[in-house]
Amino acid sequence: MEIREVSFRGAALSVSTRPQEWLPQVAVAGRSNVGKSSLLNWLFGRSVARVAKAPGKTRTLNFYLVNSSFYLVDLPGYGYARVAKSLRSQWGRELERYLTEERRLAGVISLVDIRHPPTALDLELNRMLQTIGHGFIMVLTKADKVGRSQRARARQALQRQLGLATPPLAVSVRTGEGRAELMADIADLLTSWRQRQTGD
Ligand code: GDP
Repeated sequence: MEIREVSFRGAALSVSTRPQEWLPQVAVAGRSNVGKSSLLNWLFGRSVARVAKAPGKTRTLNFYLVNSSFYLVDLPGYGYARVAKSLRSQWGRELERYLTEERRLAGVISLVDIRHPPTALDLELNRMLQTIGHGFIMVLTKADKVGRSQRARARQALQRQLGLATPPLAVSVRTGEGRAELMADIADLLTSWRQRQTGD
């Protein structure tokens, strides 16, 4: 799969203002500063997602229509508050309901910075995603910032902590590492979602 065209289709929180078409959605989640906007622009091949923004300001879902066939959905960053709060209190009920109830959600790309162990909120989100049973792509960002052995350790540790079947993908927007694999994983999520539609 290649991304040929992408357009921003709005920021929304409430269900009524989200895109209405019955197209699959792949959401991207991670704590503030994990590299989410950079990763989106890198996948898009152009600057569409805003990179510089005040952390924690926006709680909207940002919808990007890709190739007229699916949405990439930028979820609000979390973990910006100094006081440790639960994901639920940072994100609110709407976000939780989006993840649990949106039937067009084909899966979630979950980002963790390769340099830091996952935070309590990272673990809370990822356990929730595993419970919901969505397709789920675990990604370690900024892989260029660590050496080979630290990378291997980070992948193994996260796999063990989350009980993943396969080690997380390591990606870097600087070197391009992991892009083809991530695109292939996204294509797999979309294929599984489409198969479930015809099976319903
Ligand atoms: P967001 O808050 O999750 O949207 O994070 P940003 O995309 O704004 O990135 C946070 C910072 O990390 C910025 O300074 C980016 O330039 C940097 N960054 C993001 N991805 C990478 C990467 O793959 N490699 C390196 N070296 N820096 C990155």
